[in-house]
Amino acid sequence: MIVTRFAPSPTGRLHVGNLRTALHNWLLARKGDGDADGDGDGTGRFLLRIDDTDAERSREEYVEAIRTDMAWLGLEPDAEYRQSERLDLYENAFVRLRDAGRVYPAYETAQELELKRKIALGRGLPPIYDRAALDLTDEQRADYEEQGIAPHWRFRLDHDEFIDWADRVRGSQKFDPAQLSDPVIRRADGSWLYMLPSVVDDLDMGVTDVLRGEDHVSNTAVQLQMFSALHTAGVGPEHCDVVDSFPRFGHTALLVGREGKLSKRLGSLSCEALREQGIEPEAILSLLARLGTSKPVEPIADRRHLIETFDLATFGRAPARFDDPELERLNTAIVHQMDFAEVQDRLPEGIDEAGWHAIRPNLTRVSEAAEWWRLVTGPIEQPDFSEEDKAYLAEAAGALEWGDDPWRALTIALKDSTGRKGKQLFLPLRQALTGMDHGPDMGELLPLIGEQEARARLQRAAG
Ligand code: GLU
Repeated sequence: MIVTRFAPSPTGRLHVGNLRTALHNWLLARKGDGDADGDGDGTGRFLLRIDDTDAERSREEYVEAIRTDMAWLGLEPDAEYRQSERLDLYENAFVRLRDAGRVYPAYETAQELELKRKIALGRGLPPIYDRAALDLTDEQRADYEEQGIAPHWRFRLDHDEFIDWADRVRGSQKFDPAQLSDPVIRRADGSWLYMLPSVVDDLDMGVTDVLRGEDHVSNTAVQLQMFSALHTAGVGPEHCDVVDSFPRFGHTALLVGREGKLSKRLGSLSCEALREQGIEPEAILSLLARLGTSKPVEPIADRRHLIETFDLATFGRAPARFDDPELERLNTAIVHQMDFAEVQDRLPEGIDEAGWHAIRPNLTRVSEAAEWWRLVTGPIEQPDFSEEDKAYLAEAAGALEWGDDPWRALTIALKDSTGRKGKQLFLPLRQALTGMDHGPDMGELLPLIGEQEARARLQRAAG
């Protein structure tokens, strides 16, 4: 079974980049393995993992906000985990790796490390950690401890073999571990950095696939060695019988703004802001599912279609461009497809199905329905009409007859009796009946306004 996860850190609101990663993993899980194992269940599992090991920066309000945003988008997880509740697992893995010599204590201060970095760069060398801590003698370590200096901990990369994997988006990837720094996995105060807990969790939760942004590519190189080291050290879930199983990884190209650059605005364009702007979840999902793929961006209201057409083989390596006007276009198209039943709860009192259908083609947002509905309920503000138009509207008030299609009947009658046509025929009527020069189809609107009110409006306009 396919198991994916979305692992946000609750240090801020979800932004479009996060949403895209969440969506990719959700789509992959919902698409599932197509029942490859014949267990009658073609769908996988999608997990939400709250990466809240950084107690200082994590906030409960953001955990809540993540849940709210995911529910609003309809990307509900099958299970939720919190790293802050799983510290024992990380401790256990840490002890095993330490005993196996794969993690080691280091005592450099931040300033010392920065200095080393600068020296390396000054010599034209890559700023890779020099592993000085590995050469410390027991005595030197004891010395640090005596001075009350607690170590931070690094994972010792195995330099003997290249790290490679078949990335599901980028293709074959190869890293020389000697070109990477041994990552710090634990701070001197005992708290965890992201790297190791994530691997422990992926292993424990049986995660089969990880899709994330390409800014994580070098993390993956390091984490693949962590998976191996944990396997060797005998850390793994009880249920994991394939000892050498790692997730498959795919790294998607970054999201950039319209101008092709990584924009600050995009990094902070939150799900909440989009919701408040009246953007529909389907518009967001339609855009984010297809950006950076060879498939066209289309307004897709049916999630099943999004799921069925999700295909990692269509993902490209060029940056994916996020374009606001495109989101607007999608939103408008999605709103125009929405059924009354879907929006009923969000509409002002009184709008029925016919009302929604009359108004819908004029909307770019569901919230605009109220404004258009006022044309039906009134009061409306009419423009000043010429004497000629007033006479015409007086005639219209008299000619109004209420049948199946009163607008058609009225305009045919007036065309015959006045010889007016086109704009001259229609515009004064629309202005008198709605106070506007444009708007919903009058054929649909007039029955909603009703006979009495329509006649009153025409008479008022006629003066
Ligand atoms: N918490 C990490 C992040 O938000 C998760 C990365 C991952 O998907 O492993 O970057």
